Amino acid sequence: MKKLSSLPWAKFTIYSIFISIVLLDVDGIRSFGMRGPYTHEKINEEAFKLFSKRTGFEVRIDCAEMINQYNFQADVYYPNKPEYHCDNSEFYRCSALLEKLKTSAIKDPNLITTLRKIGLASHIVQDFYAHSNWVEITRTSYAMAPIENLKEFFILAPNLQSGWHPFSPEGTPEDSVDCYLKPQDEWGQWILGATHGCMEKDSNYSLRGITIADSPIAFGRTYHELAGELAVEHTAKLLQYFYDKRSPQFMSCMIPSFRTVGCNQTVFKGLRSL
Ligand SMILES: [Zn+2]
Repeated sequence: MKKLSSLPWAKFTIYSIFISIVLLDVDGIRSFGMRGPYTHEKINEEAFKLFSKRTGFEVRIDCAEMINQYNFQADVYYPNKPEYHCDNSEFYRCSALLEKLKTSAIKDPNLITTLRKIGLASHIVQDFYAHSNWVEITRTSYAMAPIENLKEFFILAPNLQSGWHPFSPEGTPEDSVDCYLKPQDEWGQWILGATHGCMEKDSNYSLRGITIADSPIAFGRTYHELAGELAVEHTAKLLQYFYDKRSPQFMSCMIPSFRTVGCNQTVFKGLRSL
C-alpha cells in the first residue's frame, strides 16, 4: 500500500493546509495563547498557588498581576526575538537571557523593573515547554528541563529542537510539510525544516498539542497538558529562586498565607475572571 504522503493529491492538500496555518501565524508568536486549557495566565496562577503551599507566603495581588502583565508583554514587544520564546532552537541565547533576567532581578532596587524581569523570565520558562520537543523526548520520564543550564550543554542534546517561526530557512518547503506527517515516535528526534506551527503545543488545538502522549505515565494527557504541567512546576521553581535568594523587591510582595487565609489568591483569581 502507498504511503499517504507519497500520493500527489494528499501532498497538495497537506501543503495547502500548511501554508494556511503559516499565514495565520505570521502576525506574531502565540505561545501558551488564549485557547489553553493552559495559558500563561493559568500557568502563573497555578504556580503562585504551588509557591504558597511550599513557602507559606502568597504573592500580593498587585505584584502577581504585574508579573502576569510583563509575561504577556514578551509576545507583544518581542514577538520576533526568539530568545524570549526559546524558538528557532536558540537554546543558548534563551538560557543566557533567562540567567541574566534572574541574576539581575535579585539585585534590582526597583519593584517594577524586578517584576518585569520575573514576568519575562516566567515567559521564557513556559514557552520552552510549549515550543521545544523536550516533552516528546522525555515523555516516559516526565522531567523538568535544565533550561538555566542549557547554555552549557545544549550541544549534548542533539535532538533538542524548537520550530522556526514562521518559515524555516533550512531544507525545502517540502521538508517543512513533512514535519506534519512524521509519526509520533519520531517527534523526539531532530526534524529538518520543522516550523513553530508543526511543533508547538500552545493549546489543545494544534497537531502536537491535541495528541495524547504515547507514554505509560501520561494517563491520557495530551502533549499540551504535559507541557503545561511542567511549565507550572518550573514557574513555581523560578518564584522559589527569588524567595530563596531573598530578592528584596520580591520579598516586599510576600504576605504570610495565615494572615490572608487564602483570600489573596481567591481575590486575584476573581479579579482576573471579571
Ligand atoms: Zn512567547
